[in-house]
Amino acid sequence: MRGWAGDLGAQFRRLIATHGPMPVARFMGESNAHYYATRDPLGLSSGADGGDFVTAPEISQMFGELCGLWLADVWMRAGGPTDPIYAELGPGRGTLARDVLRAMAGAGLRPEVHLVEGSPVLRGLQGAAVPGARFHEDAASLPDDRPLLILANEFLDALPIRQLVRTDRGWRERLVGLREDSFVFVAGDQPMDEAIPDRFDGASEGTVVETCPGATAAIRHLAERLSRQGGAMLLIDYGHLDPQSGSTLQAVRAHRKVSPFAAPGEADLTAHVDFATLAQIAERNGCHVQTATQGDWLREMGIELRAAALAKSAPEQSEDLALACNRLVHADEMGKLFKVLAVIAPDWPAGAGFTSSGG
Ligand code: SAH
Repeated sequence: MRGWAGDLGAQFRRLIATHGPMPVARFMGESNAHYYATRDPLGLSSGADGGDFVTAPEISQMFGELCGLWLADVWMRAGGPTDPIYAELGPGRGTLARDVLRAMAGAGLRPEVHLVEGSPVLRGLQGAAVPGARFHEDAASLPDDRPLLILANEFLDALPIRQLVRTDRGWRERLVGLREDSFVFVAGDQPMDEAIPDRFDGASEGTVVETCPGATAAIRHLAERLSRQGGAMLLIDYGHLDPQSGSTLQAVRAHRKVSPFAAPGEADLTAHVDFATLAQIAERNGCHVQTATQGDWLREMGIELRAAALAKSAPEQSEDLALACNRLVHADEMGKLFKVLAVIAPDWPAGAGFTSSGG
């Protein structure tokens, strides 16, 4: 579809055969661009729609409602400045935006809606879920004259990562090459030692260090905007709060992990988000930050009370609500692996829900 002549795997093979191995970042970036441009990837494995993976807002409306209340609460305590913008990055089916906006409306906040989405297929679904939303290819074109209330759930993990690998000759970029007709990881020729932070000096051979230039640039841009325009941002994704090494590149298809090389452009490629680095960048650009695990944050935000209230008005759903709540907060489900990073404009107040993590 859409300008891709044939199979992306075959194109990658031809490119590598002609020009040599390609950086992991290019492999991941082109795979995901094709993947998201050509389908709606979301679905419950048990449902008729199948899909490849499911996200928190698709599990329960409670997730989006609490995100909406969080943003509305910060906005109110900042004095309720006029004409704020709700901006969401990678809005999927538009489910999260719809739940957020309903909760905001209940709190008396009706912002203009701006969605940053590259995929034409998903823009169609988002437009239907949130009539009147305006679309952007990139956060750079968001309005620059009003406060921003920004949300991104499982957006950053889809951005291409660069990998560096420790070899017996020092650090090299990790590339995708071919052995016979199969994709394999190989190390580049150029020394990359200067690109590696000092703390990895003693790393053993085979150690992989990842960076995500797209996420770094996005956070710097948005933190600068928040500093200038006012506002707050919630970034929710799976990843780590402390610096880490090791390859986290993975592919998911039909709710199962597959090799990232199995079907380029037909499986979702993701990597863990390095929240430690993103928080540091936001602070360097004038904002203050708070972090928590998703489970702790949702509990502090009152998800259990919200589930009980919903169950009271729809008793036949109480079992489903309890299951959804468990899936979002339990340490063995999404509660611990997923993290929440709040980035807040310098003169705006700290956000709710981070008390137990000392935010
Ligand atoms: N936030 C949604 C969807 C997550 S899937 C949810 O929680 O359900 C990832 C989303 O990010 C999709 O909407 C995808 O199209 C979008 N996306 C991925 N890479 C992107 C890029 N480089 N630019 C803009 N959007 C991107």
